[in-house]
Amino acid sequence: MSSFYDVIVIGGGPSGMQAAIEAKKEGAKVLILECNDSLGGILNQCIHNGFGLRQFKEELTGPEFAYKQYSEVKKLKIPSVFGAYVTKIEGEKITALVRGKEKEYFSKAIVLATGARERTAGEIKLAGDRGAGIYTAGTAQKMINYYGKLSGKRVVILGSGDIGLIMARRMTLEGAKVLKILEIMPSSSGLRRNIRQCVEDFEIPLEFSHTVTRVVGRERVKGVYYAEVDENLKPKLETEKFLECDCLLLSVGLIPENTLLSEVEKNIKKQIIVNEFRQTSIKNLFISGNSLHIHDLADNASEEGAIAGRSAALFARGALEELGEEYEISFSSAISYTVPQRVSGCGSFKIFFRAKQNFLRKKIVVRCEGEEIASKFCVGITSGEMQEIEVESGKVKGPLTVSIE
Ligand SMILES: Cc1cc2nc3c(=O)[nH]c(=O)nc-3n(C[C@H](O)[C@H](O)[C@H](O)COP(=O)(O)OP(=O)(O)OC[C@H]3O[C@@H](n4cnc5c(N)ncnc54)[C@H](O)[C@@H]3O)c2cc1C
Repeated sequence: MSSFYDVIVIGGGPSGMQAAIEAKKEGAKVLILECNDSLGGILNQCIHNGFGLRQFKEELTGPEFAYKQYSEVKKLKIPSVFGAYVTKIEGEKITALVRGKEKEYFSKAIVLATGARERTAGEIKLAGDRGAGIYTAGTAQKMINYYGKLSGKRVVILGSGDIGLIMARRMTLEGAKVLKILEIMPSSSGLRRNIRQCVEDFEIPLEFSHTVTRVVGRERVKGVYYAEVDENLKPKLETEKFLECDCLLLSVGLIPENTLLSEVEKNIKKQIIVNEFRQTSIKNLFISGNSLHIHDLADNASEEGAIAGRSAALFARGALEELGEEYEISFSSAISYTVPQRVSGCGSFKIFFRAKQNFLRKKIVVRCEGEEIASKFCVGITSGEMQEIEVESGKVKGPLTVSIE
């Protein structure tokens, strides 16, 4: 197999697969490098339904969604190298460890689609013992869905993000007792449908403004202390209680897996800056999916992969080089971030963002130098769901602002 490509996609999850599909459709010579032994990424362990409503207009399980994309990858004859863990990107050169051997690949354009990793007990400075029985929710999901191993019988879940909610239902269906879900914030960051279908339908207690203060159990988890928190998220120790359990699942956030990019771009800030083509400040490097920002829906990660893959193919054949001036996108205090953060406005594009809190009956407005260029009325905006607004081609003449009004 030749090592020279137009587009190499690193990571074969839904975002990477779609990037490869679109790049190939643009006529590029494409390769996928994937460290696992199959394509699909996190979808392979998500055996619940709720995927694909946007992209395939039907409700699919994670593996079914992955299989549909894989069928397209196969039809287009896009090669993949499995067991290929990419360790370095330098210009057009990619270094990967392939089953213990270091290999080099070269590509005119690169798409990074390496997904996200879960925040661990250490990262949230969880106090107390570290006996067996403390797992991230995604690890517990893999154990049960891949290997048929239940991580505990009396379970406390910390965090009410989507993975925590989905695991509350999964553990219950497998015969475990989910005693409580504790959420430090006053509301859940999970999708409304997951709260209804995974928690309320099973009458699992979900306590907001509460957190675990200490884990007890040196060999095996014996229980947790938990307490209410104040407005600064500090536990009110006078409310502390003990709950006997043998397992604590952590669903306390995902972190974009983009260390490969931060190795190349030393000045990278907390969030990676991209334009509407998902092109980073390193011109031949594109990024999409959870490695750029956390997506609640695989469909969105895939849509973003399509943009990055198509753009990378255009770049490889020299068609994306002359973008002209790029303008910054800023946002009001109700919004936590946007993607993209800068635009050339060459064609129509969507701005994706997350609101900091929930709103009812509001308008999302995009302005260019004070003039309204796009708006959308929303009955409800929730902090747990990614929002989007489309800006038509030809409207961008200067910097943009996005606000909720
Ligand atoms: C528990 C859970 C439940 C979910 N439920 C839903 C749902 O009901 N509906 C829905 O639409 N979405 C759901 N999602 C969200 C959706 O699955 C994700 O948004 C989507 O999978 C992200 O796709 P991705 O391609 O960016 O990342 P991933 O799927 O994580 O894929 C990244 C790929 O990159 C590979 N990789 C990483 N690093 C390297 C490297 N250095 N070299 C080579 N390869 C590498 C990984 O092995 C992996 O295959 C859920 C997610 C989780 C975790």
